[in-house]
Amino acid sequence: MKREREQRPRRVTILGATGSIGRSTLAVIAEHPGRFEIEALTAHGKVGELARLARRHRARLAVIADPSRYGELREALAGSGIEAAAGEAALIAAAERPADWVMAAIVGAAGLAPTLAALRRGAIVALANKECLVSAGALFMAEVRRRGAVLLPVDSEHNAVFQALLGAELGDVEKIVLTASGGPFLGLSRRRMARVTPAEAVAHPNWRMGTKISVDSATMMNKGFEVIEAHHLFGLPETAIEVMVHPQSALHGLVLFRDGSMLAQLGPTDMRVPIASTLAWPERLSCSVERLDLLQLGRLEFLPPDPERFPALAIAREALIAGGAAPAVLNAANEVAVQAFLEKRIGFLDIAAIVADMLRTPLVAAPVGSLEEILAVDREARILTAERCAASNPSKVYGTRV
Ligand code: NAD
Ligand code: MG
Repeated sequence: MKREREQRPRRVTILGATGSIGRSTLAVIAEHPGRFEIEALTAHGKVGELARLARRHRARLAVIADPSRYGELREALAGSGIEAAAGEAALIAAAERPADWVMAAIVGAAGLAPTLAALRRGAIVALANKECLVSAGALFMAEVRRRGAVLLPVDSEHNAVFQALLGAELGDVEKIVLTASGGPFLGLSRRRMARVTPAEAVAHPNWRMGTKISVDSATMMNKGFEVIEAHHLFGLPETAIEVMVHPQSALHGLVLFRDGSMLAQLGPTDMRVPIASTLAWPERLSCSVERLDLLQLGRLEFLPPDPERFPALAIAREALIAGGAAPAVLNAANEVAVQAFLEKRIGFLDIAAIVADMLRTPLVAAPVGSLEEILAVDREARILTAERCAASNPSKVYGTRV
């Protein structure tokens, strides 16, 4: 069945354009001259990079989140005819502009309000940001339904499941499987894990990503977040979402149907593949990434995750089952703990332990009916976690070097 190709170029906004996902999105767009037009590009603080991308891709608007950099941005865009804006409200205004398709690739809680703004006007939103569904999944999915928006998952595992589910009835799905590479510490003992350094934790074997998500892959908290996201995206109970360690990272996700059939998506470890699958959705685009060579790979392995060495996965599942504010607390606590680890203020194994402690605070019972309430829980959880991190003794982990 062939659909009519869109007559005019698709108008695109990229929230978080200077990041790893943002740049990959622009790389795919650059392969298709005339097919896309850039409405707005946003970034946090990299003014020079933002201005360069805005000029190169002829954006109508460039927004820098840090308001103190506004003058610099205006100067960098002088004579280009590109509008400049700055600050949090400008990020939301950028998401509200009439783009057909919005990439939500801001990292962290800062991505919530702009992404929600894009969904509220019924746009097609390609979602990379994890926090939207982890912290505010029920709210976001309700908004998608209410506004008739389309949410396309970009994260490789969810994108794989989304593709495998095309044309399927939810009632026919028995379970889905999200694969995990296992991260850089797959073969390490728990004793050795206690002493790993930030540099070791961010050296991911298969994917090149931002630092925070790389640490989350090393603890497997990232996979825990993905279980929560999958629950919201696909409307499946926690028990129907399985995680398997798959060190080759060739098969990203699969669906088991009730007749025993399994459909999987495979591809190279390059985010341009899932991004390309969403950019022209429901059409497919050509993409020049290197093809996955199965003959060269030879074999695919699958292992159960080890709960002793990767407790974060079970902690995230607990937060999903508890519901309410628990996933928002999980996310905020993890972000603060990861930052503390990156600054060598806590050890690697302390990340999951501290997050688990935060899930035992009364904060998990706080109301989360609105974005404001969720952001309040987020702020409070950060304060509590920072106090908990400050009480930790990193010299036990790193010896006298710290
Ligand atoms: P990144 O750190 O490379 O880029 C983040 C982007 O967000 C940058 O453009 C930055 O300027 C912007 N940003 C950061 N803080 C901001 C703030 N306070 N206000 C406004 N903008 C801000 O991150 P990334 O690897 O591109 O990941 C983006 C999101 O996608 C994350 O939530 C990540 O978990 C998710 N994700 C990434 C990958 C990947 O392979 N990189 C895969 C799956 C999901
Ligand atoms: Mg992923």
